[in-house]
Amino acid sequence: MTDLYFDVIILGGGPAGLSAALYCARGELNTAIIDTNMLGGQPSNYLELENYPGFKRIGGYELMEKFEEHADMFNVQKFSMQEILSVDLISNPKVIKTKEHVFSASSVIIATGAKPMKLGVNGEIEFAGRGVSYCAVCDGAFYKDKIVAVVGGGNSAVEEAIYLTQFVKKVYLVHRRDELRADKIIQERAFKNNKIEFVWDSVVQKINGKDLVESLSIKNVKTNDSYELSVDGIFPYIGIVPNVEFFNGQIEQDSKGFIITNNTMETSINGVYAIGDVRNTPLRQVVTAASDGAVAGVYASKYVQALHEVKI
Ligand code: NAP
Repeated sequence: MTDLYFDVIILGGGPAGLSAALYCARGELNTAIIDTNMLGGQPSNYLELENYPGFKRIGGYELMEKFEEHADMFNVQKFSMQEILSVDLISNPKVIKTKEHVFSASSVIIATGAKPMKLGVNGEIEFAGRGVSYCAVCDGAFYKDKIVAVVGGGNSAVEEAIYLTQFVKKVYLVHRRDELRADKIIQERAFKNNKIEFVWDSVVQKINGKDLVESLSIKNVKTNDSYELSVDGIFPYIGIVPNVEFFNGQIEQDSKGFIITNNTMETSINGVYAIGDVRNTPLRQVVTAASDGAVAGVYASKYVQALHEVKI
């Protein structure tokens, strides 16, 4: 194990983290970014974005490569594929232990993002990777000419249902209400797509099969009717939960676990910031994640400079 000290450590290398890294390093802070995976975050799995300003259409992976190249320009130290053992945000300096290193920093920016929420029904864990998938871009091609279900009514569910139609014979979009939550423009595209059949007011109660998924037990919540829907795969897109396992108990969080910040992105702990999807925010987009990163980068720099001045 090696001991490494930085002015600021950013946990998470998605758009929020990479943007914060750029602002911190450009502000001449000795900056490191740590990720448990490769850098790039969730957007690396998005086929295409058409709402990141300046790019009418750009692949998610390509955009994240540009973010990383930009951070590289200011010599951000990158530590990917790190297995985090513990995070102490209360101590000064803050300490992050991974399997390979002990990192210390005056300031920490949390940009750990969020992961898909589970349906919590029988069969979901058993058939993971055998018909249950949380990533249409990763697994869609395996379902060529098959029948799949997408669960949820938000932007993710509707966008991914549309995406899947290029491979599959049919997509059932199973939603618990009779109205979608997704943006109107995305709804319109789904309504026009004749491979998508909407299963309104319905929830999945069980995922059934032998080796692979074969059907779903569906219940109509208005009529209480239950029946089996034959499918080869199911893609739950019912929202996200924050990646906060290492911070619970140290930091103020809302009832769903998202980290609460003020408008400089500072958390309940001085010198600790939270940005992007992990934070209690009204909008989760690449552009808002990048914006959070800029704000946190600037205020973390001010915080570290003030600490240095006190020491002098
Ligand atoms: P979301 O907006 O929270 O939508 C979750 C959907 O799942 C809702 O329709 C919800 O139903 C349904 N749901 C929740 N719990 C359920 C359960 N236990 N059983 C069945 N259905 C359940 O989540 P998201 O679509 O993953 O999006 C997350 C964030 O990322 C959002 O802020 C979204 O706008 C953003 N996003 C943006 C884009 C884009 O702009 N291109 C793309 C993807 C995601 P109700 O509607 O009844 O609550």
